[in-house]
Amino acid sequence: MKLESRIPSGPLAQKWDRHRAEIKLVNPANKRKYEVIVVGSGLAGASAAATLAELGYRVKCFCFQDSPRRAHSISAQGGINAAKNYQNDGDSVYRLFYDTIKGGDFRAREANVYRLAQVSSNIIDQCVAQGVPFAREYGGTLANRSFGGAQVSRTFYARGQTGQQLLLGAYQALSRQIGAGTVKMYPRTEMLELVVAEGVARGIVTRNLVTGQIEAHSAHAVILATGGYGNAYNLSTNARGCNATAIWRAHRKGALFANPCFTQIHPTCIPVSGDYQSKLTLMSESLRNDGRVWVPKRKEDCGRPPASIAAEDRDYYLERLYPTYGNLAPRDISSRAAKRVCDEGRGVGSGGRGVYLDFADAIGRLGQKVVEERYGNLFDIYKEITGENAYDVPMRIYPAMHYTMGGLWVDYNLMSNLPGLFIAGEANFSDHGANRLGASALMQGLADGYFVLPYTIGGYLATLKPGATLPLDHPDFRKAIEDVAGQTRRLLSINGSRTPDSFHKELGKLLWEKCGMARNRQGLEDAIKTIPKIREEFWRNVRVPGQGEDLNQALERAGRIADFLELAELICVDALTREESCGGHFREEYQTEEGEALRDDANFSFVSAWEFKGLNGSGRWDLHKESLVYEEVHMAQRSYK
Ligand SMILES: Cc1cc2nc3c(=O)[nH]c(=O)nc-3n(C[C@H](O)[C@H](O)[C@H](O)COP(=O)(O)OP(=O)(O)OC[C@H]3O[C@@H](n4cnc5c(N)ncnc54)[C@H](O)[C@@H]3O)c2cc1C
Repeated sequence: MKLESRIPSGPLAQKWDRHRAEIKLVNPANKRKYEVIVVGSGLAGASAAATLAELGYRVKCFCFQDSPRRAHSISAQGGINAAKNYQNDGDSVYRLFYDTIKGGDFRAREANVYRLAQVSSNIIDQCVAQGVPFAREYGGTLANRSFGGAQVSRTFYARGQTGQQLLLGAYQALSRQIGAGTVKMYPRTEMLELVVAEGVARGIVTRNLVTGQIEAHSAHAVILATGGYGNAYNLSTNARGCNATAIWRAHRKGALFANPCFTQIHPTCIPVSGDYQSKLTLMSESLRNDGRVWVPKRKEDCGRPPASIAAEDRDYYLERLYPTYGNLAPRDISSRAAKRVCDEGRGVGSGGRGVYLDFADAIGRLGQKVVEERYGNLFDIYKEITGENAYDVPMRIYPAMHYTMGGLWVDYNLMSNLPGLFIAGEANFSDHGANRLGASALMQGLADGYFVLPYTIGGYLATLKPGATLPLDHPDFRKAIEDVAGQTRRLLSINGSRTPDSFHKELGKLLWEKCGMARNRQGLEDAIKTIPKIREEFWRNVRVPGQGEDLNQALERAGRIADFLELAELICVDALTREESCGGHFREEYQTEEGEALRDDANFSFVSAWEFKGLNGSGRWDLHKESLVYEEVHMAQRSYK
């Protein structure tokens, strides 16, 4: 299989403009004759569905929540990047592009990232026009703050609720189209199969989560905007419902999965507090604008109240190790630094897996009121969960699984290797390389939905005849429906003795230990041997009570966990194959003397795109490589010192 990235020719800064000018157009009168399915109504899906409908296409949009407003995007706290240079501090499209490429440890596609930086400004304009209440300066101009991996302030925010406010903007645009009849919305509906006929994506099969009804939907193009797969690790900052089912089922139908081992562990989360937990909570990276990270210099001091430890006995390790970026060092680097100090026995809190995030200096400098204005809701969340008032004592934080840079492989047009199947937002692998910079996921999801897909999907549809889609009684639709019904029956009939969640916990623990912040050959080989055993037991011994014809959350979870049990193996296979360290993928065998990630550009400067071959044999996946060619930037050892 040859991977066609379809990167336009010409100078980097002109590629997107030229491509847009050359893309085939659909006659406005014909647009209503094309149907587009959008699975997902988070920022990427809602923005794509609303914009495509506004253009005149007929759109069906699906989500598993009871309302598009409840997509996981709502939880995004800190902000969204854009190269507006409102602060006059030296920002530019090029700088945002370069920071993103460097932040991703030179494992992202240059042309996609440049386009992202280019359209970033349009996103802010669009959202302001929608009424998104971004924070403003005293004089009325939009405010900015800084996020990791950047030395400029380019992050736009709405307190600690940026995702919620952006989603309300996208949701109102979507609602307008629902009202106009151009989008038909299917809430509480889960896509369980992609329909592929003669190598082309032609529709999906869904299950109504309330009635259990299985239904097929046909379209000219399918967009998956179904979010990331961080919940493969069980405990993560993602909403509990986030899952990989849509992209995984598409992968099983031939869509290539790119860089699955590029997972992001976020340094500032509330530490795990016990075995009963089902999720972890993020404390936004924005807090590192004003919070200082430290641990005691001496192990013996770890049990003492933080206020009693003198300044000279504290190790502000990020400021010490990375003086240029300090507490705003990127996430992968900050996470590993936290792990190292805890491994040395200098962690704080129960179990010694925590570091302090301290606001005492900021409160002294700015006053508590200003800190409250900037981060009040985050301090409230922290108090709700830990019972501690972080205005008085430092927060305790520790890294946790947060985001997935990997995802389905897409070309420059965001189309997968299956014609007609497009992937947007966190579900694709497109822009963040081996490590995403803070506040860049919202930017990417909205870039994909508002500004990229509306053009590129048009280019694809213009190559198809308008009018009829594949009939629902086509053999490929019938088979997909039977496969979905068959899996539902199978899950309900096992009647074993373990809950789906118990398998999820077991899998998550294994992934965290063997393929988390640090990975090595031995651990990955162990995981690759163990995961099929967990999977085998799952299909023999899981217990899914209830029936398929009504609301059955155990059944929903079991289906999603079945997919995680396959995806987890691929994550580890990918991590084992990539014999270098880059970004969030830290192979212990490949590190500098100072313990930083050591890339191997000569041998691993490529995107790994995995093709599913079936779970029965030993060669379950074939690896295809897309070489990363840098025309503009010089690949360098990343330094934040
Ligand atoms: C706690 C937290 C804070 C964050 N803060 C920030 C931040 O400040 N800035 C930033 O840039 N990024 C942030 N991120 C990352 C960012 O929020 C996500 O990457 C982004 O919102 C993902 O958007 P999305 O549209 O791709 O997916 P989602 O918002 O996850 O939406 C997925 C959609 O797909 C639907 N779906 C999924 N599977 C199916 C299926 N099988 N069938 C039907 N529907 C399906 C869901 O119902 C949902 O509508 C944060 C992430 C977390 C976890």
